[in-house]
Amino acid sequence: MERTLAIIKPDAVAGRKAGRILDRIESAGFRVAAMTLMHLSRAEAEGFYAVHRARPFFGSLTEFMASGPALVMVLEAPDAIKKWRTLMGATDPAKADAGTIRKEFAESIERNATHGSDAPDTAAFEIGYFFAGMELV
Ligand code: GDP
Repeated sequence: MERTLAIIKPDAVAGRKAGRILDRIESAGFRVAAMTLMHLSRAEAEGFYAVHRARPFFGSLTEFMASGPALVMVLEAPDAIKKWRTLMGATDPAKADAGTIRKEFAESIERNATHGSDAPDTAAFEIGYFFAGMELV
């Protein structure tokens, strides 16, 4: 079993798409091990995306992530990190495969509906950023 951090981003929550995305997650065989709805502050969004601090879109990205509530969760499945990124699709919805969540629900390369950890070390950091050990059930 492996765990990954998933976020239904503010665009998808505001657009009332969270239920349909959660259905896709559960239908794909993931178990939800933790989940919380939170409205990140700008500083919290900057801490989460610190690895992207030098990117030109960092300011816009962190403003977007702090723009409204997001549904933050830990997903569990065999090979969960890769499996969730495959289900999400490419960062840019214009390049995402048919049938992926971003193809169906994302508005743009920035407002792209979901987040998923990209490797075991980032998954460990990201899960720990949002959840204490006792919150993982
Ligand atoms: P991910 O792993 O697929 O989420 O993609 P990245 O780690 O490369 O980027 C993190 C997040 O930054 C993405 O999910 C998008 O919300 C945003 N992002 C990525 N590339 C761009 C870009 O070129 N322009 C803008 N405005 N946002 C971007």
